[in-house]
Amino acid sequence: MKQIFRRLFCCYLLLAMQATLAGPASENLAAAVRFPTVSHQDPAQFDGAAFLALHAFLSETYPRVFSELEVELVNEYSLLIIWPGADEQRAPVLFTAHMDVVPVEPGTEAHWRHPAFAGVIEGDTIYGRGSLDDKVGVISLLEAAEGLLAEGFQPERTLVFGFGHDEEIGGRAGAGMIARRLRELHYHFDWMVDEGSVIAADSPLIPGRQVVMIGVAEKTYLTLVLTARGKGGHSSVPPPQTAIGRLAAAVVKVESNPFPAKLVQPVITMLERTAAHVDFPNSLVFSNLWLTGSLVADRMTREPLSASMVRTTTALTVFNAGVKDNVIPQVAEARINFRLLPGDTPDQVIEHVRRVIDDPEITIEPAREWADTPPVAAMEGGGYDIIATAAQSIYPQSVVVPWMMSATTDVRHYIDLADNHYRFHGIVVGMDQVSGIHGTDERVGVESFENAVTIAAQMLQLGGR
Ligand SMILES: [Zn+2]
Repeated sequence: MKQIFRRLFCCYLLLAMQATLAGPASENLAAAVRFPTVSHQDPAQFDGAAFLALHAFLSETYPRVFSELEVELVNEYSLLIIWPGADEQRAPVLFTAHMDVVPVEPGTEAHWRHPAFAGVIEGDTIYGRGSLDDKVGVISLLEAAEGLLAEGFQPERTLVFGFGHDEEIGGRAGAGMIARRLRELHYHFDWMVDEGSVIAADSPLIPGRQVVMIGVAEKTYLTLVLTARGKGGHSSVPPPQTAIGRLAAAVVKVESNPFPAKLVQPVITMLERTAAHVDFPNSLVFSNLWLTGSLVADRMTREPLSASMVRTTTALTVFNAGVKDNVIPQVAEARINFRLLPGDTPDQVIEHVRRVIDDPEITIEPAREWADTPPVAAMEGGGYDIIATAAQSIYPQSVVVPWMMSATTDVRHYIDLADNHYRFHGIVVGMDQVSGIHGTDERVGVESFENAVTIAAQMLQLGGR
């Protein structure tokens, strides 16, 4: 009898431990975090050795992927992995993520619960830079592929993985070069999926439900440089208006004349699909947007987050002028960052700014050639349904909605390479975790991550059909 009790107690203890213990996949994510693959704005600070060490870790940890699939190093530090499908006639599918991370802001190191590159698992949480953005993407896909190879899975469609190494500074050397290589190889994908959207644990959109947000669109990034010139000279004999005064008046006009609020796709479909899951009167309002649309758009401008869904946003981000108290500057320069709704064009924004400022003495130039934005992806069928099915296989109670990102991703490098572009990782993220992305205490739940591996495996299996 005593023996049985002891055995039962041991079983119980083992089960209780398993409930909090991280599996090997989580250990691998924590280990990947320990490689400081940081993207710095200053190229001189680039540490190629950290990326090569990460590659070595990946090939050791995922031996089937690195021996059975076609692995190619692109531009020294990015990875292109091809899993040839049995049926060459079928269009392939592309899965992307990035290996680089942002630096820790100097002076904030001590604010972290665990050092940013220590890769610590504490209880049910994996801590560290990259645990959400975006080593979680790289590791969940590799875990999934390794597991499927071990099971003998053979896709019908070719599956391709592209892991860039400089997404955080624009992605030109990584994703840009992977895309160039894929063009050389004459690839064209049925659909692709990158980082950028997740499963929201506590979205204000549908209180009390997990919301699978499939990124089907992203806003266009545009920075305009405004320059005012003046005479300059000694500050003891000033002109009535200096370059600073002239430019300040101009940027105030831009800020106080925001772009009109309007509902466009995919926000319309997002709200419509939300309607069935929210209380009255929102249920009625969201299912009759033909009537309530402008009212809803206006309401959404009250909070910055929802406002970003209904208008091209205006952010004054840089203002430079003057070097000394008693010197009137000859030049003043301001930078304004815009995030454009689908359908709005950079030319329209420039025209709007020119009209609002109404001052021919101020020059308006784009900071650099703007990148094109992928079109809004299909919100049913194909890749969209596969992502939704994969997510709901683990979270059957969740609600699936299309989502528009305000930030940009590496997707812009692959626009011509795929018919539909999605952004999604199968991790559940709470509002309290969002500040960790590019901030302090970046972290992901152990269970959430391990479920993301299963969701990634589902996406590979269904996508490979
Ligand atoms: Zn990222």
